[in-house]
Amino acid sequence: MNLPEGSTQRLIACRECDLLQRAVVLSEGGTACCPRCDAVLYRKVPDSLDRTLAYALAGAVLFVIANTFPILGVDAQGNHTSTTVFGTVRALHATGMSAVAALVFVTTILIPAIDLAALLYLLVPLRLGRIPPGVPAMLRLIQAVKPWGMVEVFLLGMLVSLVKLGHIASVHTGVALWSFAALMLLLAATAASFDAEGIWARVRVLP
Ligand SMILES: [Zn+2]
Repeated sequence: MNLPEGSTQRLIACRECDLLQRAVVLSEGGTACCPRCDAVLYRKVPDSLDRTLAYALAGAVLFVIANTFPILGVDAQGNHTSTTVFGTVRALHATGMSAVAALVFVTTILIPAIDLAALLYLLVPLRLGRIPPGVPAMLRLIQAVKPWGMVEVFLLGMLVSLVKLGHIASVHTGVALWSFAALMLLLAATAASFDAEGIWARVRVLP
């Protein structure tokens, strides 16, 4: 059977309208869109593996700093107190706001940790020319956890708290706050450069 120019044998279903179509070979930086609903099917990001790995490694270092060092320090009536993000979670739990504590823990600590760990689990061996076990499960996990990571919402809440607390006490920003700001940008960069199609292509090519 003669295929149209640029088409491959591989079939792909549109995630939005379920139209079955033949995948096309993309040039660097190209985007494949569904002919029926115009949804983006996949992209070919230049140097996707190296870029995503670099962002994820930098993100992992910042994640450790963001969760180890104090995020805020407060001076009030001669007392200085500072807390980490996990300290905030414990304080919320201790004051009876367990649901909020769980929400902060899951969206700010647990999900970014799973996201970064799954990315590094996939990308480090692939960069070294090996295929790690469980690639499909890891790709599904990355896709499933992505919407639940809300570092940016947490940061926005922190900024509002900073302004409010500034009226009643002297507030100092900690290293972790800046690390979280940089982590937010790196997680966005990781999501933009991650190319699941490219990983499938590597898995198919590597023995
Ligand atoms: Zn479609």
